[in-house]
Amino acid sequence: MDNIPFGKHFSDHMFLMNYDIDKGWHDARIVPFGDLILSPASMVFHYAQEIFEGLKAYRSENGEILLFRPEENIRRMNSSAERLCIPQIPEDIFLEGLKQLVELDRSWVPSEPDTSLYIRPFVIATDDHLGVNASLSYLFAIITAPVGSYYPEGLNPVRIMIESGDVRAVRGGTGHTKCGGNYAASIRAGKRAEEQGYSQVLWLDGITRRNIEEVGAMNVMFKISGKIITPALTGSVLPGITRKSAIELLKSWGYEVIERDFTVDELIAAADDGSLEEAWGTGTAAVVSPIGEINFNGIKHEIGGFKIGEVTQKLYDCLTGIQWGKVKDSFGWTLRVC
Ligand SMILES: *Cc1c(COP(=O)(O)O)cnc(C)c1O
Repeated sequence: MDNIPFGKHFSDHMFLMNYDIDKGWHDARIVPFGDLILSPASMVFHYAQEIFEGLKAYRSENGEILLFRPEENIRRMNSSAERLCIPQIPEDIFLEGLKQLVELDRSWVPSEPDTSLYIRPFVIATDDHLGVNASLSYLFAIITAPVGSYYPEGLNPVRIMIESGDVRAVRGGTGHTKCGGNYAASIRAGKRAEEQGYSQVLWLDGITRRNIEEVGAMNVMFKISGKIITPALTGSVLPGITRKSAIELLKSWGYEVIERDFTVDELIAAADDGSLEEAWGTGTAAVVSPIGEINFNGIKHEIGGFKIGEVTQKLYDCLTGIQWGKVKDSFGWTLRVC
């Protein structure tokens, strides 16, 4: 299970629900995983009216199946829906469908260390009509896929390329939503960084190209002179649930966490004068990803001696400990499915 490729093998079932103007959301059902039949004129194929979410189900040591803050994903999905003119999904039906699907396919939740069942809810616009407006019909689906450890060789620092050409999102756009178009726009820079041996892109804001926004599909945090700094949620940054959880944990440990605009110039200065102690990304897939090097305009800057920082490691251990049910969840973040 450790070396299964991410998102290529799917469990036996999927959850589906349809929307139309007359009936609203209706016909919620769990069916065998299989192909969808859609008209080539379906609006999703042309104008990308689509949103998604990503979360995981974890198997604890005594065999329980746990979800991590699923109500946050449901709320964010509806916030994405609002921006993309997709009708709101009833939260209770979403959560119930999610729980029933995971329970039915619980044998697909792997048990090896650091493995999980990745859960991908999504909504697509299904009107067969080429006009540019909101579709009148939609399909909501949840599919799941077992995933191996994100760090099969253990937690390791990554190299990051600061991208000053392409931008991922702008204020007023869709950067705060999980909509497919954002990711389509991000692929080119990611590919270029990879070709040069970097695992992720560090995104700057689309207007000044100075403010740091995110790293790949993760939020980013820095420890500078003992304080934690993370870009504020200005509209072009995705409000990550791992980010939110990390901030709550850091504050509970007594750290000062500052959410503000943070420029690449400040980052480079802090890297070079030694006050930048740690840097890491946060997201559901990697949980916490230590950053050991940043490259800006061809110049490399090492962070923390390319070692995993103390706070980075503590956050990783605590978050993964809660997720897999190994550490007491004093925040009430986990939901037991079965
Ligand atoms: C999903 C995502 C994140 C992380 O969100 P989590 O809720 O922590 O998984 C951060 N940035 C982008 C662009 C994302 O798509």
